Amino acid sequence: MSTYPLTGNELGAVLDQLSSRLGDRVVGPQDSRWNDARRAWNLAVDQRPAVVARPESAQDVMALVEVAREHGVRVAPQGSGHSAAPRASLDRSVLADMSAMNAVEIDADRRRARLQAGAQWQHVIGPAAAHGLAGLSGSAPDVCVTGYALGGGASWMIRRYGLAANSIRSAEVVTADGDRVRADADSEPELFWALRGGGGSFGVVTALELELFPVRELYAGVLFWPQERAPEVLEAWQAWTAGVPEEMSSLGRLLNVPPLEQIPEPVRGRSFVVIEAAWLGGEASGTEQLAPLRELGPEMDTFAMIAPPGLAALHMDPPEPVPGAANGMLLGDFSAAAIDAVVGVAGPGTDSPLLSIEVRHLGGAAGRANPKNGALPAIDAPYAMFAVGMAATPEMKQAVVQRLDDLHAALEPWDAGRFLNFTERPGYTNRMFSDEAYRRLREVKSKYDPDNIIQANHEIPPSE
Ligand SMILES: Cc1cc2nc3c(=O)[nH]c(=O)nc-3n(C[C@H](O)[C@H](O)[C@H](O)COP(=O)(O)OP(=O)(O)OC[C@H]3O[C@@H](n4cnc5c(N)ncnc54)[C@H](O)[C@@H]3O)c2cc1C
Repeated sequence: MSTYPLTGNELGAVLDQLSSRLGDRVVGPQDSRWNDARRAWNLAVDQRPAVVARPESAQDVMALVEVAREHGVRVAPQGSGHSAAPRASLDRSVLADMSAMNAVEIDADRRRARLQAGAQWQHVIGPAAAHGLAGLSGSAPDVCVTGYALGGGASWMIRRYGLAANSIRSAEVVTADGDRVRADADSEPELFWALRGGGGSFGVVTALELELFPVRELYAGVLFWPQERAPEVLEAWQAWTAGVPEEMSSLGRLLNVPPLEQIPEPVRGRSFVVIEAAWLGGEASGTEQLAPLRELGPEMDTFAMIAPPGLAALHMDPPEPVPGAANGMLLGDFSAAAIDAVVGVAGPGTDSPLLSIEVRHLGGAAGRANPKNGALPAIDAPYAMFAVGMAATPEMKQAVVQRLDDLHAALEPWDAGRFLNFTERPGYTNRMFSDEAYRRLREVKSKYDPDNIIQANHEIPPSE
C-alpha cells in the first residue's frame, strides 16, 4: 500500500464514492465541518486524515471499508480520540468516527451489555446500575468502551474481575475484506482472541457484548495529603498493597491540581499526594481495610458508599476534551527507590509541568491468566504508571514531553513492559504482549488483514 498522501484526483474519487454510499456522513477537507470532524478528544493532536466518515450502521462501515480498499486507502477507526496521539500519519486514511453508533441495551437476566462500538462508558454505567450491575469501566466516563476494552481496560474492580478485555463475550466486526462477522468463543475464535487485548488492528468493531457484574455499591473515595509527604505516604501505600484482598483496587498519585475556577476551593491550585481506592464491600469492612492509611492523618477523606456511577468522579478526570501529553509503563516494583525516583523527577520543588503521576496497583485477577482469556490474558506486573500534563501550546507540550521522558528514564530500572491503554507513544507493541502472543497476533492480522488496511493507534503488523 502506498504511503504517499492522496493526490487531488485520488481524494476526489474517494470522496465521490464514499459520499454516494454514506451521503453527508462523509466530510472532506473542503467541507465547512472539516475542523470539527477531524478533532480528537485529545486537543493537542492535530489529526489530518484524508477524509472523515461517520458511519451510523454496520452497513455504512462495510461500504466505507469497501471504498477505502478499492482506492488503496486505510481505515482508522476512532471512538473518541482519547488515544489519538500514538497513531501514525493519517495522510492516506479514512478516519472512521464511530461516535454516532452509541446505542446500548442491558440484558439484566444474562448480565450482559450489548453496545454499538461508539458507546462511551457513561452510556453504559447508568443503565447497568439500574439493574444493580456494573461493567469494568475505567476512570473517565467519556472514554469509549470499545477502544478501552480492546486495549485491555483497567477498571476500579481490576483486582477482583480482571481486565475488561476479558469481559468481552462477543464482537461484531467488519473485516478488511468488507465482510461482517461475529467473533466469539465458537465463531472466528482466533479473531475473538486477538480482539481481547490486542487492540484495534484486526477489523472495525461495530458492536460488543460485555459481561456485567453484580455490584450495587462500593466503598470508594480519595485520601489527600500535602505533596511534601509524598515519600512517606507512597511507601505506606505500597506496603499496604502487599496485603490487601482482591476486592480492593487502588492507586497512589502525585496530583498538581490546576488553578482553574471550576475546581472547588479546597483543592484548586494545590499539590497533593493522594490515594484513591474502591472496595467491593461494605463501609465497616472498608473502614477496617483503610485504617493503616487513615493513621497517616489525611487532610481530606472523601470515602463513602457509592453506586457504580459515582466511580466516574473518583479520579477527577477532565469532563470534556482537553489538550494533553501523556505516557505510561508497567513497573516490576514500586519500592522506596522507585518512589524516590518519581518524587525526584516530579515531586515537591521540581516545578513539574505534569498534572498527575499515578501508579495503579494490579495483581489479583488482573495477574491471573485464565486460559479462556484473550491476547492479554493478564498483566505480568504488580503496578502500572501513567503520567499526564496539559499541552495547550507547543511550549507546554515540549515541557511535558521532556518531563515524561525524564520520568521514564528515572523508572527504567523497574520497567516491566507496556500496557496498551497507558501507552501514548507509537512503537512499543512488541513490549505489550508475551513473545508468543505477539507472534500469534501478527498471524491473526495476516489472516484478517494481510494488506494492512485497518489502522490502529498501536499497530500489530502482519507476519512477514
Ligand atoms: C482521561 C483518560 C482516562 C483514562 N482512564 C483509563 C482507565 O481508567 N483504564 C484504562 O484501561 N485506560 C484508561 N485510559 C486509556 C483509554 O482506555 C485509551 O485511551 C483507549 O484507547 C480509549 O479508547 P477510545 O475508543 O475512547 O479512544 P480512541 O482514541 O478513539 O481509540 C483508541 C484506539 O482504539 C481502537 N478502536 C476504537 N474504536 C474502535 C472500533 N470501533 N473498531 C476497531 N478499533 C477501534 C483504535 O485502534 C483506536 O486508535 C484513559 C485515557 C484518558 C485520556
